[in-house]
Amino acid sequence: MKRSKQSPDSPAQELAGLRREVERLKGVESRLKESEERLRFITETTGGALYRLCYATMTYDYLSPVVERLTGYTPEEINRIGFSSLVRTITKPASDEVPAEEIRNVRLAGRTGEYRADYQIETKSGQLCWLADHSLPWLDTDGREIGSVGVLTDITERKRLEESLRIMATIDQLTGLLNRRRFMELAERELGRSRRYGSPLSLIIFDIDHFKAVNDAHGHAMGDRVLERLAGACLGVLRENDLLGRIGGEEFSVCLLECDLRKARTAGERLRKAVAAVEVQEGEARASITISLGAAQLQQDERLSELMHRADRAMYEAKRAGRNCLVLDQTHPQLPLA
Ligand code: GH3
Ligand code: MG
Ligand code: MG
Repeated sequence: MKRSKQSPDSPAQELAGLRREVERLKGVESRLKESEERLRFITETTGGALYRLCYATMTYDYLSPVVERLTGYTPEEINRIGFSSLVRTITKPASDEVPAEEIRNVRLAGRTGEYRADYQIETKSGQLCWLADHSLPWLDTDGREIGSVGVLTDITERKRLEESLRIMATIDQLTGLLNRRRFMELAERELGRSRRYGSPLSLIIFDIDHFKAVNDAHGHAMGDRVLERLAGACLGVLRENDLLGRIGGEEFSVCLLECDLRKARTAGERLRKAVAAVEVQEGEARASITISLGAAQLQQDERLSELMHRADRAMYEAKRAGRNCLVLDQTHPQLPLA
């Protein structure tokens, strides 16, 4: 017989209903467990630390435990000491350093949209490492931005590679000296300083004499070794602050700081003698070289290109004068150079 809707359930029916409800809840619980498990798997295996940051308190109401692997601090410790206390440097990806205050103000000012920054942090054990922060706004039901949801990822290795690439781009691979571009950059900076403080500055350009003959007689590899040894010999007689660059295949330049033409002559002679003393030996073969040098002192309002041009002209004069010597450019005589 069909039971009417109003009629009360019998105890047996009630029990069956309860059983069904228990079964349904068990299913919900197991699905919830599964989904929690999935979330834990994701947060623990991505390598990055997921977070939700609340702007009102500037604390994380969620921060995955992975953060301990990145920083040495547990999520609770980070909320206690404040993440910003770990930060030493902040950069926007692919740009220069930005002040921490600026970022904080932008974030507090309202909608920031997608946000990216790189932080150099000090870990609990005192090591410096880099974390990339990528987040999206967290909006409340009225659409107000009340925080952000994001992920912190370890990018220390990437930063290390970027740094070595940056250095490699400024260094001549064979000699380890400044390459032409970097030499010009740094010399330009020193010219500015010299003009501002009125301190003298001189520049030397030198070129190996008959270097082609060294290559022809002993081979290019031997020529390369000569270049390496020349670099070492020159660095050995220069002051630490002087700039030495390889500005061409077998052409070099020195920017001498706090140095007038008289002192430049002394430095040039030291370089000439140091290079002449170099002897590269490989089996039976021996190679030694000399250099011809030109020096000029920076004039008021002179540009780097003009100064280099004068030093270069003096160097060619030294070649014409028989090589293995130094010529001073005295277009602007300033000191009796007896
Ligand atoms: P000069 O006294 O007039 O300067 O004579 P030079 O033979 O030195 O001048 P030249 O310009 O005729 O030859 C320069 C030589 O320098 C030729 C080139 O092969 C050599 N050279 C340039 N760069 C390198 C390098 O990286 N390694 C080696 N081994 N040789 C180089
Ligand atoms: Mg040359
Ligand atoms: Mg030469």
